[in-house]
Amino acid sequence: MKRYGMFVNGEHVKSERNAWLPVIDPSLETVIAEVPDASAADVDRAVSAARAAFDTGGWPQTTAQDRGRLLFKLANKIRDEAGPLAELECRNTGKPIVEAEFDIQDAATCFEYYGGLATKIQGHVNPVPDNALSLTLREPVGVAGQIIPWNYPLVMAAWKLAPALAAGCACVLKPAEQTPLTVLELASWLPEIGFPPGVVNIITGLGEPAGSSLVAHPDVDKIAFTGSAAVGKLILKSAADTIKRVTLELGGKSPNIFFADADFEAAIDGALFGVFINQGEVCSAGSRILVQKSIYAKFVDAFAEKSKKILLGPPMDRATKMGPLVSKEQYDRVRGYQEIGKGEARLVAGGGRPKGFDKGYFVEPTIFADVDNNARIAREEIFGPVAAVIPFENEADAVRIANDSPYGLAAAVWSRDIFRALRVVKAVRAGIVWVNHMQPTYVEAPWGGYKQSGFGRELGPWGMEEYLEAKQVHINLSEQPIGWY
Ligand code: ADP
Repeated sequence: MKRYGMFVNGEHVKSERNAWLPVIDPSLETVIAEVPDASAADVDRAVSAARAAFDTGGWPQTTAQDRGRLLFKLANKIRDEAGPLAELECRNTGKPIVEAEFDIQDAATCFEYYGGLATKIQGHVNPVPDNALSLTLREPVGVAGQIIPWNYPLVMAAWKLAPALAAGCACVLKPAEQTPLTVLELASWLPEIGFPPGVVNIITGLGEPAGSSLVAHPDVDKIAFTGSAAVGKLILKSAADTIKRVTLELGGKSPNIFFADADFEAAIDGALFGVFINQGEVCSAGSRILVQKSIYAKFVDAFAEKSKKILLGPPMDRATKMGPLVSKEQYDRVRGYQEIGKGEARLVAGGGRPKGFDKGYFVEPTIFADVDNNARIAREEIFGPVAAVIPFENEADAVRIANDSPYGLAAAVWSRDIFRALRVVKAVRAGIVWVNHMQPTYVEAPWGGYKQSGFGRELGPWGMEEYLEAKQVHINLSEQPIGWY
């Protein structure tokens, strides 16, 4: 069993207390590695290293071209190591290997994109009404604390690190305690690639104390967080004490809306993919499936029938379409919602643990029909393969139900009527709306939530904006005294 160190100031280190956390393979329930269990003192050490890299180490003064090249090298290294990295991600998360392979490519693409964007950070000349030259300079916000979840470990790390580094920030990133391995592997390449010590620090540990001390730390300028709404609220409160910049991506309860005129086969596949990809452990999962009444009965039958064909199996098997959930805690949580759903709606598929699995945190793809939008399974984020199907009458009804949620991360609408589809796109309050698809997203486009799904945007130029300050520079061009006194 391998012991990984945290990555602080360019070196792999133990925690000060020499305490360790087990990392498991959720398909076998075996410990595959140990990582340091960081305390507040360890976080302080990492923040000091980042602070030094930013304040005196010269990182913000590197040229944009040099930062871009480092990011390109990192992207290439990820591609070179894609096989072993995908396997590590697969073993640690339980996601199917084929999906893990996509994730690794996505992470590489993200570093590459921001490698290119580093040289496109541009200021402005402001048209001020005076004999002056007014400029806006863009500067990095400083030390970024970044906290990420366990569902897409390397992709989430890339979404956080790449724009911050392109902007010239120094980073302290905390992966989820369940899934720290791929980003630690990546960190081990940073010295040879040429990243100066302290520019990237990875601390491993629990939300409390490691995550919470990062948020409270007075020397951290900004927190970027992806995770649950409950923790997002804690972070926002704690960040208030030091007036930190905060961006939050907090998941959702996203509606996937099917009108009667949608291509029926495509719709069924879209509903399945939308909610069951990555075991349903997706912040944008289409977990509320809104179906027009005229096709409702046929849709529910076909959806339930096809869900039973989803192949659960060992994550490393290339035929596997669904692996186990990431942890015992998540398994218990999802099993709990399966039971809650049985008291709230009509179970039409799944509902328990699949037969033939002695080990591993596997749950059946589960579908409830006739769900009231006020039911807990329609309001609370489950983060597992549990779908709530909700009937609707007409377009107005669909939009009303879709928007009746505290969340607003994502939505999708399926229809062959372009006028209706686009009306729904405009009416739904969500950070992304798909038409006749659900889930693909690209590093070039903005990602983030409306309402309680959070604020701030990741990816694209928007993602880098969140790591930049704007500095106004006023240059007096008049050689006369200002004549005030
Ligand atoms: P999930 O319920 O999906 O595990 P969480 O929001 O609990 O999502 O976790 C997402 C990330 O937030 C993880 O890295 C976790 O360690 C971290 N975290 C949990 N609690 C806190 C906290 N109080 N302060 C800061 N980070 C936290």
